[in-house]
Amino acid sequence: MSKNTTFNRRSVVKMGLQVPLVSAAAGVLVACGDGEEIALCADPNMLSFGENSIRQANKYIEVSEEADKNCLNCAFFTPEPAGPDGVVPNCGDCSIFEGLASKNGYCDSWSTKDTGQG
Ligand code: SF4
Repeated sequence: MSKNTTFNRRSVVKMGLQVPLVSAAAGVLVACGDGEEIALCADPNMLSFGENSIRQANKYIEVSEEADKNCLNCAFFTPEPAGPDGVVPNCGDCSIFEGLASKNGYCDSWSTKDTGQG
């Protein structure tokens, strides 16, 4: 009985630790250059070392500084379907990162959807 009790207590403690982490990930905001705050699609604190490494190696940023280049018009980006209001959600899937990226983001692997060339 004590072994099961210990396991159950550990599970409860573990669950108690995970809930705040999940909540924190959903609410992570970062400041942009213009002082505005934006929600991160993927919290670096929740990503693996490898996931963070590929983002850093590609110099991923949440808001593109290139006038006509962003994740939404990148060949590697799959946006979520637009909502009833016609607005495409901010976060979509990047096949390079195998994870979420912002439709307004940008990285060195950007490639146009038109030709497949950068
Ligand atoms: S490859 Fe880079 S620019 Fe293209 S969707 Fe992924 S993060 Fe965005």
